Order: sequence, then structure tokens, then C-alpha cells
Amino acid sequence: VQFDGVPMFEDDGSYRGMLFLLQDVTDIRRLEVMRSEFVANVSHELKTPIAAVKGFAETLLAGGVKDEDTKRSFLQIILDEGERLNRLIGDILELSKIESKRVPLEYAPVHLKELFDSIFEMLDPAARKKSIVLLQGVPEHLFIEGDEDRLRQIFMNLLSNAISYTLEGGRVKVEAEVLGDGDEAEKVRITVTDTGIGIPKKDLPRIFERFYRVDKARSRSSGGTGLGLSIVKHLTELHRGTIRVESKVGEGSSFIVELPFMQYHDAES
Ligand code: ADP
Repeated sequence: VQFDGVPMFEDDGSYRGMLFLLQDVTDIRRLEVMRSEFVANVSHELKTPIAAVKGFAETLLAGGVKDEDTKRSFLQIILDEGERLNRLIGDILELSKIESKRVPLEYAPVHLKELFDSIFEMLDPAARKKSIVLLQGVPEHLFIEGDEDRLRQIFMNLLSNAISYTLEGGRVKVEAEVLGDGDEAEKVRITVTDTGIGIPKKDLPRIFERFYRVDKARSRSSGGTGLGLSIVKHLTELHRGTIRVESKVGEGSSFIVELPFMQYHDAES
């Protein structure tokens, strides 16, 4: 608790008394610590690709590399790292906008099956490359109330992670079900399950933290920024939903999203 006292005087200059201000600063302190940790993390994350770009560009400029293939591979690294910087900055800006609630959600009925059809179409090439089967178990007439673009972002992230962290020949599945009964139904549970590498138990509680990765090298090689799940969690919470994860190393992971459900009745019926 912060405790500040200021003496108060009357207009004629005579002493009137003390004014004390008591303020609970734990939240403010916590925010300050989180902010400075975030800045430190961001700087660290940006430094790695910048160092790579500088290093390889300097080597090429020095003219020591004569072999064309080696030159090309250095240029490719510069390009990849540049793209990585772009993604990082995009995700950092996105997260800061979402965290400060500067993203107005445009609520509308969203047809879940159509949403997943369009996401699957986009992820199909990535899945094919690794011979991963994408499966959908979403009921035909299920709508939820939400911002379609933001919901797409949530599930694109979860599904592309599922593909990234699953080995060749694995399976990735989305299922949706209504919890509760009939008119009293309250929630829709959407589960993204993979048969991937899984997440060690000790890492599970931290998986939604910014920049937290189980295996940095693997995340880097899959093009990850370590911010995807933080963005997903915030967007889910903006929709008044929850997200949790269950996982077993070597068997796979399930990300379980629960969102408020609204029953839509046909206007004509
Ligand atoms: P990244 O950009 O590294 O994928 P995320 O925030 O999306 O960052 O995920 C954080 C970390 O959680 C990943 O680096 C990975 O270690 C782990 N992870 C996320 N999804 C899965 C999954 N489906 N299977 C196994 N590990 C996962």
C-alpha cells in the first residue's frame, strides 16, 4: 500500500491539517513488472533475426563467398529472417491491440461448419505436405454468436499449431457439441485434437504465456512466434469464452474452447 501525506492550509495561510492518500499499488506494480518483462522479451525475440540478417548480409558484402549455391542459401536465410521479423511485429501489434481491448468485436451468427470448411481449405496444402488427415465432426446446423474473423483467427491458430506439432501421417480433428439441453443450452464446446508430439505436463500451465515455447528450435523452424496461443486466449476471452489444454507427450494434444451459445430461431417459423 502506498501512503502519501500532504499538509493542507487555509486561504490565510494557517495550517488546516494533513490530507492522506492511501492507494493499493499491487496491481499497478504487477502491471509495471509485466510490461518491463514484455519489453525485455520483445527485444530479445527481435534481436535474433536481426543478428542473422546483419551477419549474413555482411558476409556476402565482404565478398569472401564465391560459390553461387552458398550465396543463394545466405540470401534465402536473409529473406526468411526478414519474413520472421514481419510476423513477429505483426503478432506483437496484434496482441497489444487485443490486450488493451482495442478490437471491437462485430457480433453476428456464425455458421460453424462453414467456418471450418473454409479454414480446412486454407490449411489443406500444409496438411498434405505432411500427409496429415484433417477431420471434421461439426454438426451441420450449429451457429454461434461471435466475430467471424476473430473466430477464424482462433481456430486457424489452433489448427495450424496442431499441424505443425504433429508428425507425418498423423491426424487432426475438430469437433463441436452443444453443452446443456434444448433452450437452456449455454455453451458450445469446440475441441481441436491432434495425434502429435504432445506437451510435457510441466509446460502445460505456461503454454498460453507470451513467447512461451516448449522447444524453441522446433517453434522457430515451424515459423512460430510464440505469441499464437496468447492471442488465441485473449480472443476467446473477449468472446466471453474459455480455453484449456489436455495433452500427453507422444500421444497428442486437445485444445478445448467453450463459447457462449445462442439458439437461433428462424425468423419465419
Ligand atoms: P508458436 O508460434 O511457437 O507455435 P504458440 O503460442 O502458438 O507459439 O504455442 C506455444 C507453444 O506451445 C509452442 O511453441 C509449442 O511448444 C506448444 N504447442 C502449441 N500447440 C501445440 C500442439 N498442438 N502440440 C504440441 N505442442 C503445442
